Amino acid sequence: MKISIRDNLLDIEEKINKALIRAGREGEKVHLIAVTKTVDVDRINEAIRLGITDIGENRVQELVKKYDIINYKVKYHMIGHLQTNKVKYLIDKVSLIHSLDRMSLAKELNKRAQKHGIIIDTLVQVNVADEESKFGLRVEEVIPFIEDVQDYEHIRIKGLMTIAPFVEDKEEVRWVFRRLRQLSEEIKGRGYENVDMEFLSMGMTNDFEVAIEEGSNMIRIGTAIFGERK
Ligand SMILES: *Cc1c(COP(=O)(O)O)cnc(C)c1O
Repeated sequence: MKISIRDNLLDIEEKINKALIRAGREGEKVHLIAVTKTVDVDRINEAIRLGITDIGENRVQELVKKYDIINYKVKYHMIGHLQTNKVKYLIDKVSLIHSLDRMSLAKELNKRAQKHGIIIDTLVQVNVADEESKFGLRVEEVIPFIEDVQDYEHIRIKGLMTIAPFVEDKEEVRWVFRRLRQLSEEIKGRGYENVDMEFLSMGMTNDFEVAIEEGSNMIRIGTAIFGERK
């Protein structure tokens, strides 16, 4: 069966709106990031023509390559683990890095952003469920980390990101999203400089509706837009 990106996007939009209503957040904005890893450029261009404005990649090489050949002006999000030695390739191409998770990376981002005369927007990645297979800081490490990163004038922390464990029953991960939301409220309350908690990047194909019910305003969707990855 041929995958209709148009139908998929309409379906997602409807689900977003219904989840917002359930959460008492009717009409609020949820940023939809189309995750385009392994997706070919023709289909990415099609999605952009249908209204996609933000795309997410998890590998630097793929992001940089697509940046050069995609015909349209869109925002690029780095959503995957970022090796320090690759920062220089993407620093001037990305709108938001979702995977800030260690001081060595913060240091390199600050250095490269300074070189380009920019301030780089980032989210702190949190491994809420403390899964061994996942990157990200543990919940209790986040506030001390943010306090340290504050000294870097070329980094702005715009919020938090998490990847929930993959489960059949989405109710099982509701607490993960709730916990990240609480953490962001706590950070907001502390009023740090260079830090705002504008974005909560949580929710993927399998769990975005629950994530929105728990306060997400940025979802990262691949499969539900483009179909299963090969
Ligand atoms: C692949 C990926 C997604 C999208 O996953 P889907 O289940 O295909 O929607 C979201 N976030 C990250 C970090 C990813 O690597």
